[in-house]
Amino acid sequence: MQIDSTNQLSPATPATEDSIEKTAITVAYGDGIGPEIMKATMQILEAAGARLAPETIDIGEQVYLSGNSAGIAPASWDSLRRTKVFLKAPITTPSGGGYKSLNVTIRKTLGLYANVRPCVSYAPFVATKHPTMDVVIVRENEEDLYAGIEHRQSDEVFQCLKLITRPGCEKIVRYAFEYARSHGRKKVTCMSKDNIMKMTDGLFHQVFDEIRVHYPEIETDHSIIDIGAARLATRPERFDVIVTTNLYGDIISDIAAEMTGSVGLAGSANIGEHVAMFEAIHGSAPDIAGKNIANPSGLLLAAVMMLVHIRQAGVATRIHNAWLRTIEDGVMTAELHSGSTTAVAPVGTQAFASAVIARLGQMPQTFAAVHYVNAPAPSRTAVPLYTRAAPARKEMVGVDVFVHDAQHTPEFLAGRLTTLATEALQLQMITNRGVKVWPGGFPETFCTDHWRCRFVAATSDGAITHAHIIALLTKVTQAGVDVIKTENLCTFDGEKGFALGQGQ
Ligand code: NAD
Repeated sequence: MQIDSTNQLSPATPATEDSIEKTAITVAYGDGIGPEIMKATMQILEAAGARLAPETIDIGEQVYLSGNSAGIAPASWDSLRRTKVFLKAPITTPSGGGYKSLNVTIRKTLGLYANVRPCVSYAPFVATKHPTMDVVIVRENEEDLYAGIEHRQSDEVFQCLKLITRPGCEKIVRYAFEYARSHGRKKVTCMSKDNIMKMTDGLFHQVFDEIRVHYPEIETDHSIIDIGAARLATRPERFDVIVTTNLYGDIISDIAAEMTGSVGLAGSANIGEHVAMFEAIHGSAPDIAGKNIANPSGLLLAAVMMLVHIRQAGVATRIHNAWLRTIEDGVMTAELHSGSTTAVAPVGTQAFASAVIARLGQMPQTFAAVHYVNAPAPSRTAVPLYTRAAPARKEMVGVDVFVHDAQHTPEFLAGRLTTLATEALQLQMITNRGVKVWPGGFPETFCTDHWRCRFVAATSDGAITHAHIIALLTKVTQAGVDVIKTENLCTFDGEKGFALGQGQ
């Protein structure tokens, strides 16, 4: 039997009654199955007595196709900034045409830095190979490769910048620990790839190590993302709360949700300092749209998280327990029904909603009942605001000059650049896709048309200035070298702020 402790707050936290005031929320019915599952969800919320004043906004495919490449109208932003609470159905991002993901835009524009995805098994009622799984993934939501800063730099090479920041790491790691503490969770696992990305993922791991000492009652560990994901997929019971960066979190939370039986079961919260957004983790499922067969559970459980967030814990408890009882009674939509041994005939979206409504006030018989209490959300009170440290002593010691050249060998390029070096800056190394090819490269190394040429200070005490770099670039470009971009090489309090070349 699965004990569903997800979102239960610690008994030590002072409880208060639900507010009797209506809370304004912004609601978007979205695309594909969005309108069906949102209608079902809103019916259940209303029947359960949620005190809501919904403002409906249009977002998604139709807004994109009307010529708004952001997929959201300015007036909708006004609603979101006014209500600060967003219940959102999935939307379809039209393919091609340069449409930016609205989900990413909303998360970043409103500073929704924490994406919280509880993934719980409902065995024996929902078929799953992992009957005791109860994992919460806390995914960083604003940075990493999702900064969306991409460039084509040469005929052969495209670049996407991975940005990891100290404030971003501190906020998400603190949030994960506060979440664990307030939800009675015992362990937080950090996942990163800092054996390869020593500076970006290394910072994430380092911040985790700095912050975990402030939570001595919580067990911690770190796992490289590849083996961590493999263990999550095979032995999820080893994990409790996982905190990780944006891309890894995106991938492992879908895997984890699917492992519970269906991607249609999981809800998520996107938490910011000012605004919070609640949505199912699945997409708009155009393949089943309009057929009244979609599972509204992911959106409904997201709405339960929303009710806890807006301090309507009593209603959240009533709905969640009725939902658990519905699943126990074998009432399931088609995608869960096929693998279940306890399900009766599959029901449609609307019938599922009616079944939950009919069980409002009932408790689950096999699952542990949930009991939410109204307490300050970690995002609002417990996570300290980031305080910027005093700046480090920064010294420029060289420059990486990236060059587009499809014609020449590394030796030829090195010879040419050596003659173009200045008194202040000398060529130290050339790499291709990060691996050193000069001096002393191997003929086996495959080279593209994209070279990173590292120039360093000619003398050990030679401080480099922007003027030195400009002088070098002037010489190099006047000689006809196609410079793509430069990256300054700096030390911070004497420590190198740049990685060595592979093989250097
Ligand atoms: P999807 O999650 O929409 O569908 C994947 C599979 O899961 C499909 O077979 C679908 O039928 C099934 N499924 C999803 N939700 C279900 C539910 N509630 N009940 C039963 N079955 C369900 O993923 P996709 O097909 O890759 O994406 C479709 C569209 O959704 C794309 O335009 C994508 O950009 C968008 N999308 C939106 C969001 C969001 O708005 N948060 C998230 C992911 C994808």
